[in-house]
Amino acid sequence: MIRAIFGGTFDPIHNGHLQTATALVKELDISTLALMPSAVPPHRPQPDASPEQRLDMVKLASQKNPVFTVEDWELRQNRPSFTANTLSEFKTQFPDDTLLFVMGMDSLMNLHRWHQWRQLIECAHLVVMPRAGVPFNPQDDELKAFISAHLTRDKNTLNTQSQGLLYISETPMIDVSATELRKQLQKREKNLPLPSDVYDYIRRHQLYL
Ligand code: ATP
Repeated sequence: MIRAIFGGTFDPIHNGHLQTATALVKELDISTLALMPSAVPPHRPQPDASPEQRLDMVKLASQKNPVFTVEDWELRQNRPSFTANTLSEFKTQFPDDTLLFVMGMDSLMNLHRWHQWRQLIECAHLVVMPRAGVPFNPQDDELKAFISAHLTRDKNTLNTQSQGLLYISETPMIDVSATELRKQLQKREKNLPLPSDVYDYIRRHQLYL
């Protein structure tokens, strides 16, 4: 089976994540997509919400759409796990499955800065969703070569091998970012691109003020 995993800080999860992921599930005809909040290593800037709060919000956001599941594996580890290690662990757990690791275009343009980034595609296909304001224009030579080596334009090839391909989706650009949202929440703006349950949770826990 195909296991799609969409990892992120989700500080907070927002309609940009959810609408693009919904479109992706349709485009690739996949039955479920797991939203996986990541643990952030201590030396990096910490999310505003706690791991538990980020997980709660992801759970709330996933409830209204049965195609979404929640993967709390990274948060359950005693230490932050790099994505390469997480995918390698999943590949060991589910050797017969095809893993799709989903990310936005900004993540792909920075992939060469990730820990053991080349190993990601040894365990999974990478599926990249276009993002408003982020052109597909890699600057780093090693990243360029990596993309050329793995890029497929044909989504059907994702079913013909179980890892090693990079596919750029045709999902719509939804111009929402968590950074912008946190600023809007701080200013107590209303009608934000968040599921209503997530907005209510943020207000109840007085997050991002
Ligand atoms: P920030 O603004 O703080 O960088 P973010 O909105 O990018 O946050 P993350 O939780 O960091 O949210 O994103 C998780 C993953 O989702 C990343 O791979 C990111 O590229 C992708 N993503 C986030 N927002 C969108 C969007 N609007 N469209 C497509 N992909 C997105």
